[in-house]
Amino acid sequence: DYKPGGYHPAYKGEKYKDGRYVLVRKLGWGHFSTVWLAKDLEHHQHVAIKIVRSAKHYTETALDEIKLLKKISCNNLAHRGKKNVILLLDSFIHEGINGEHIVMVFEVLGENLLSLIKKYKHRGIPLIYVKQIAKQLLLALDFLHREVGIIHTDIKPENVLIELGDVEQIVRMVESMEKEKKEIRKLERKQSRSSSQLAASIPTSANSNGSSRNGRRSRRQTLIIGSQPLPSPINSPEFFNVSNNNSSSNNNSARVPSVPIISSNLASAKDSQEQLTNSLNSMSLSMEQSFVSASSTVLDDPMIPEDSETDSENIISVKFADLGNACWYDEHFTNDIQTRQYRSPEVILGGNWGCSADLWSLGCMLFELITGDYLFDPMKGHSYSKDDDHIAQIIELLGPFPTSLLNESRYTREYFNSRGDLRRISKLKPWGLKDVLIDKYKYSSTEAGEISDFLLPLLNINPALRSEAGGMVNHPWLSDALGLQNAVLERPVCGCGEDIPGWCSEVKGHPKH
Ligand code: ADP
Ligand code: MG
Repeated sequence: DYKPGGYHPAYKGEKYKDGRYVLVRKLGWGHFSTVWLAKDLEHHQHVAIKIVRSAKHYTETALDEIKLLKKISCNNLAHRGKKNVILLLDSFIHEGINGEHIVMVFEVLGENLLSLIKKYKHRGIPLIYVKQIAKQLLLALDFLHREVGIIHTDIKPENVLIELGDVEQIVRMVESMEKEKKEIRKLERKQSRSSSQLAASIPTSANSNGSSRNGRRSRRQTLIIGSQPLPSPINSPEFFNVSNNNSSSNNNSARVPSVPIISSNLASAKDSQEQLTNSLNSMSLSMEQSFVSASSTVLDDPMIPEDSETDSENIISVKFADLGNACWYDEHFTNDIQTRQYRSPEVILGGNWGCSADLWSLGCMLFELITGDYLFDPMKGHSYSKDDDHIAQIIELLGPFPTSLLNESRYTREYFNSRGDLRRISKLKPWGLKDVLIDKYKYSSTEAGEISDFLLPLLNINPALRSEAGGMVNHPWLSDALGLQNAVLERPVCGCGEDIPGWCSEVKGHPKH
């Protein structure tokens, strides 16, 4: 893919926009682009730089993305949800060996929600975080749909990024990790050369010197970066505080950043082969990964103060990113939208769609955050297609498709016969959402009831009647979202978005943006 029309072969130290931006390390990549951490020499801060593939199609899409991002970033738009959408800082063209690349500059964010799902081993993210994430993303969608007139169309865990605490500090921390990694490797080489000599002085266990500094950190201990708690990284035998000028204490309640990192105490590492191996294992991540892991902001076993009603320090903060597939309420660029597992019934059936399609994807994604599994993961069979299976799964979970949707959709006849039954799948096994949560995910009946009461309005098969984002912000299930208890909008809970232009179909006529 690194060929003319493809990705730009970016490298550390490469300069952009007449030397204003200097690349530091790769942060990630997607179908359209590679994303790099860069230093902005004009504003003396780090930024994320998205370098788009150079082929015409990608360039055109990127120009649309910039137009959408500029509208979102526009200063005269004030809405509580604006801060949960990524903002564009700059954009320009970069001439490279593979052609002209559109470059977008963003604030630096952390890992995406898919990494978080994986971190919890696909067993579900704690509900306290899911509620915070859900509330912020609903606020963001209310902003996008109501204020800006933009439909994201590709809501999925990969496109939601976790906000970092102090970016500059994290960069320092990762740099110091890199240095440590080099030193440990050097030490390891040295050690292997004189292993027999060293073996005699190695204690049999990491704790044998009696120092608690060599033990694992308790799972309940938290670390705070900026205003945000950090996980105790699994397998990290040691931590130390990156020096911080303001630092006077590193206890958990202090706002002073205290960051986890592999021990710099090389003298003690030298004493313990086991510790050395552990250190290397936990550092064996690529640097690209290590940036996001180091900047990860969520605990594996959160310590939530019981009395933290108004405590905003435990907020995980997230933002919608990747507006590369987004469109306007009055100008849809394509009907081929949404990633398979998050694709709404009206899109599968080739019907009218609008802002409400985003709420379907959000519902699917929130289920995935809660359980660690896709809500719908359709497969092709011998006698049926992926779409057939997808529709069947939707019916099994949520009931029959409404006649209005069947009547107005282009491909209805391909999937349903004249009696309204699926053509290629006859045996359906109804298994409602609440029962799935009880039977498969072992939720109590009360909890399963609460979760499904929240998710079902987002998963209304009828796009016109699906609940709009603003009202869902006020849903009782989210009323105890930590630090966000006061985030309430003046909208009826579970109201549908009939007053939102383009709610369930494209507004025709000359586009107004
Ligand atoms: P694409 O349009 O190519 O899919 P994305 O905008 O989704 O590009 O970015 C690709 C990946 O790069 C993301 O999944 C994320 O891991 C990383 N990334 C994107 N933007 C940022 C950012 N502002 N800060 C940190 N990482 C980012
Ligand atoms: Mg993407």
